[in-house]
Amino acid sequence: MLSDALTALKGVGPALAKKLENLGLYRVEDLLFLLPLRYEDRTQLVRIGALVAGNRCLVTGEVLLSETAFRGRRNLLVRISDGSGQVTLRFFHFSRQQQAQFQAGVHVTAFGEVRRGNSGFEMIHPEYRVLREGQSAAMSDALTAIYPATEGVQQGRLRNLTDQALRAMSEAPPAELLPEDVTTKLGMPSLADAIHYLHRPPPDADIEQMLAGRHPCQQRLAFEELLAHYLSLRNVRALAETDDATALTRGQETVGHFIGELPFKLTGAQQRVVTEILDDLQQAHPMMRLIQGDVGSGKTVVAAIACLKAIACGVQAAIMAPTEILAEQHWRNFSDWFRSLGIEPAWLSGSQKAAARRDALAAIADGSAQLVVGTHALFQEGVEFANLALVVIDEQHRFGVHQRMALRDKGVDDAGHPHQLVMTATPIPRTLAMAAYADLDTSVIDELPPGRQPVTTIAVPDTRRGEIVERVRAAVAAGQQAYWVCPLIEESDVLDYQAAEKSYAMLTEALPELRVGLVHGRMRPAEKDKGMQAFKEGLIQVLVATTVIEVGVDVPNASLMIIENAERMGLSQLHQLRGRVGRGAAQSHCVLLYKPPLGRIAKERLAVLRDTNDGFIVAQRDLELRGPGELLGTRQTGLPDYRVANLVRDAELMPQVQMSAEAIRTSSPERAAAIVRRWLGDAGRYGKV
Ligand code: ADP
Ligand code: MG
Repeated sequence: MLSDALTALKGVGPALAKKLENLGLYRVEDLLFLLPLRYEDRTQLVRIGALVAGNRCLVTGEVLLSETAFRGRRNLLVRISDGSGQVTLRFFHFSRQQQAQFQAGVHVTAFGEVRRGNSGFEMIHPEYRVLREGQSAAMSDALTAIYPATEGVQQGRLRNLTDQALRAMSEAPPAELLPEDVTTKLGMPSLADAIHYLHRPPPDADIEQMLAGRHPCQQRLAFEELLAHYLSLRNVRALAETDDATALTRGQETVGHFIGELPFKLTGAQQRVVTEILDDLQQAHPMMRLIQGDVGSGKTVVAAIACLKAIACGVQAAIMAPTEILAEQHWRNFSDWFRSLGIEPAWLSGSQKAAARRDALAAIADGSAQLVVGTHALFQEGVEFANLALVVIDEQHRFGVHQRMALRDKGVDDAGHPHQLVMTATPIPRTLAMAAYADLDTSVIDELPPGRQPVTTIAVPDTRRGEIVERVRAAVAAGQQAYWVCPLIEESDVLDYQAAEKSYAMLTEALPELRVGLVHGRMRPAEKDKGMQAFKEGLIQVLVATTVIEVGVDVPNASLMIIENAERMGLSQLHQLRGRVGRGAAQSHCVLLYKPPLGRIAKERLAVLRDTNDGFIVAQRDLELRGPGELLGTRQTGLPDYRVANLVRDAELMPQVQMSAEAIRTSSPERAAAIVRRWLGDAGRYGKV
C-alpha cells in the first residue's frame, strides 16, 4: 500500500494526484514524509471570556441566537455563550440546512481565528460541530497538523490523506533501516513511531521544541535523511574507485622544472596539496579531489601543475571556470606559464565566433590541443576530446554536482574516466563539507603567500561617498589601482548595468584626471576582456565593475576596493569581492558603502567582515545567517532539497551520520541501498551518472 500511487487512496483521482505532485508527492509513502509546518491545538477549550484577538482557539457554548443579516451580502450570525462571555460565529456561505442546525439552546464547538468584530469577538467561517448530548467538546485528541499548502488542496484534505497513509503504515510499518545500536545510542524512536508522532502529536507534546525542529522524532528522520544523502554520495565515490583512469606516472622532471622556474616559491600548503594531487594522479583510478583555499591562497598555480603533469604524460587536461572573465584570465596565465614549454592552451567559450570554435573543436578532437581552457561550454554537445585525462573545475560552488559529473562523463573513453580536481574559494564548515562533498577527498590550502597584509575593512554610509572618492584619488596618486563595485541587481541586468553606468559617470566627472574603465555583465565578452586587460596592464586606474569580477580576478596592483550597496550582498560574496585586493605587497583597503539605515542582519554581516579576513569564519557566519543553500550557491549546487533535515540546524548529527554510514556500508550494503532508495528514489539521484 505505501508504495502505491496516490490514486490508491480514497478520494484521490488523477486531478488531485496532479496537484499533490506540486508538493513532491507521488506515492502513498511520500505523504508520511510531508511533515507539518506547525500545529494547532484543538484539544484544549479556551473560555470565551478569555479569548484574545488574533489567536486560533477552540471554544464551546450554547447558541443564544442565530440570524441572517445583510451587510452588503447575506451573513449567518450565530452567537454562542459559555457563561464566561459571548462570541459570534459568522458565515458568508451557508446552506439552509446549516442554518437550521443552529437552534437556540443547542451546544456547538468551534475552532477559528478570533477577531474583533463590531459587536465583540467573532470567528469567521470557523470549523465547527454541533454537539450531541454527552459528546465531548474537544475536536481532536491530538494536536492538529498544518501542512505545507498547495493550490487547490485544503488542509482538511491533507489531514484526511495523511490519516489514510498513517493507517496504511500501522498495518504494514516501513522497515526499520537504522541499526539498533545507533537508535539506542542516540535515544531515537522507531521510524513509524517518529512519523506518527510528528503527524498527530499528543496534546502534551512540546510544540516549541517541534517548531525548532529539535524534537527527537524530527532528529530521527533528519538523521536517516542525512544518512541517505551521504550514502548516495559515497556510492558515487565507490563507483569511481572501481572505474579505470589513466595512471599519470611520467613527467616528474618537467613538473619539477616548472615549479623551480616559477617567479615565486610555493607555500608549504601549496606544496602539500601538490603532493597529494600528484599522488592521486599516479593511481589507475580517477582522482576525485576538492581543494578548498581562501581567496588569494594560490589555487591556480596548483591547478596548472596538475595540468602539466597530465600533458607531460601525453594526455589532455581541461580547466573550466564559471565566468568568461575568469576563464580568460586562466587562459592568459596558463599561456604565459607554459609558453617556454611550447604548450598553447585552446580556448572554448559560449560566445566565441563559429570559425574559432570550429578550429578549437578540431584541435581538441585530434589531440593537438593538450590543454583546453573554457567556461561550461566545455561539456556541451559537440565537444569531443581525444584523450581527456584530467578535468579541473575552478570555483566549483558555482557549478552543480550534475555539471561536475557531466564533465567527468565527457572524458570517458577506453582508458577510463578522467581525474577530477575541483577547487573552491568558499571554504565551508567541516560538518557541511561532510554532507556536500562526501564523494570527494579534500585538500585545504590554509596558508596565504608570504608578504600579504590583511585587508582592512570599513563600513561607511553612502552619504560619505565624497570622502571615499577622495580616497580613490589618493590611492591612485600613490601608484595604486582601485575597484569600484556595483551590486548585481537580481534578475535585472538592465538596472544592473545602469547602476554601473551611473557610478562610472559619477567617477569620471569627479576624477577627471584619472583613467576610469567600466565592465559589466551586458558587455560583449571581448569588450569585457579588453576592459579587464587594460586594468591589469595599468592603463586604467579605476575599474567600475558589477559583480562579474566576483570570482577569481587577479590584479595584484589593485589595493583599494569600494563596494556599493554592500548591505544587499551576502557575506561570502563580499568576502570573495574583497579577495580581489590584498594580492600585492601594499596594504589594501576595502570600503563597504551602505545605504542607511541598516537592518540587523546586514549590520551583523558588515561587522563580520570588519572583524575578520578569515574565509572559514566568514563562511561559518554566513551559514548561520543565511543557511546552506546560499553558501553552496543555491540552485546551482545540484544539492537536492532535504525534506526533513536542515544542514545548519542538524550539523551536529553529521559526525555520527558519517560513522554510521561507513559502518552500514561495510556490514550491510543492502540496507544502505534501501536507505538511499527510501529518501532519494531509485536513481539515488547522484548515483546514476
Ligand atoms: P586563488 O586561490 O584565489 O585562485 P590565485 O591562484 O589567483 O588565488 O593566486 C593569487 C595570487 O597569488 C596570484 O597573483 C598568484 O600568482 C600569486 N601566488 C600564488 N602562489 C604564490 C606563492 N606561493 N607566492 C607568491 N605569490 C603566489
Ligand atoms: Mg582562483
